[in-house]
Amino acid sequence: MTAIPRVGLGYDVHPFSDDPTRPFVLGGVTFDGERGLTGHSDADAAAHAVADALLGAAGLGDIGQHFPDTDPQWRGADSLVLLREIAMRVRAEGFEIGNVDCTVVTEAPKLAPMREQMQRNLTDAIDAPVTVKATRPEALGALGRGEGLACLAVAIIAQS
Ligand code: MG
Repeated sequence: MTAIPRVGLGYDVHPFSDDPTRPFVLGGVTFDGERGLTGHSDADAAAHAVADALLGAAGLGDIGQHFPDTDPQWRGADSLVLLREIAMRVRAEGFEIGNVDCTVVTEAPKLAPMREQMQRNLTDAIDAPVTVKATRPEALGALGRGEGLACLAVAIIAQS
């Protein structure tokens, strides 16, 4: 019998930082001249959402369990490196990764010019297709006031 596929959901949110030296990194792309996000690692919310979607599908907990933000080893970490490791841990449990779809919710910056590169970076990190979409929060709530940015992702995997 073919294994029943498993889905996972990932969600991550990071506030924008007041530190002008902090780079804005999303999907492994550094956007020049944009306000960075606050976080222990590089605060790449897209990579974190994709990671949590994969971990959820595999029943392997969440990214915080795998890479605790209390561990100085992960300070300023490149989240694509963490994501690559997560994909390896999912495959080590005998799963094949189908694809992951990610939506970024933010007023700014405009993601369209970087979207292809974000998809390539995330796809390369997990060695399975990742798609990235963007939507605006329409001025509603904290995200609408530009206080932070959120990402959602869904992943599908199956026992290989
Ligand atoms: Mg995060």
